[in-house]
Amino acid sequence: MPVQLEIITAERVVLSDQVDQINAPTRAGRVGILPRHAPLLTILEAGELDIIKNGERTAFAVSGGFMEVLPNRVTILADTAERSDEIDEARAEEARRRAQERIEVAHSDRDMMMAEAELRRAMVRLRVAQLRRIRQRGGGE
Ligand code: ATP
Repeated sequence: MPVQLEIITAERVVLSDQVDQINAPTRAGRVGILPRHAPLLTILEAGELDIIKNGERTAFAVSGGFMEVLPNRVTILADTAERSDEIDEARAEEARRRAQERIEVAHSDRDMMMAEAELRRAMVRLRVAQLRRIRQRGGGE
């Protein structure tokens, strides 16, 4: 029996679907969620979130948030989340370049923390988009 998964941001419902497995980037490391997982409330870090449905993997870039796991329902409240094919790589590359510049000229801890978070978001988006291309190539051979 699959798990009902909702991935929600302040802007939109990113996904509402029945899935077989979820691999999420939490503060405590990557956590795999299967149906009937024990209840859990955890903080998500910026990273790749994978779902598996009917043997097929779909990856999302998330920039942090919360995950609530109930036996047959998982809710992810993400700061931002994009499915791998929604990621605009040129935009992420530009955001990465901007964040690196900001890190170099940061005048306060707060500026530095914000620039580092921006850099992490951009790096995750780039990685998730690149992995998608690599996996597609692998699948097509
Ligand atoms: P940018 O400076 O390019 O806006 P950012 O990291 O500041 O990057 P966020 O504040 O994390 O952007 O996200 C703002 C909105 O734009 C969110 O809805 C997020 O999903 C979307 N978004 C940000 N970067 C990308 C991208 N490279 N591809 C697709 N959607 C993106």
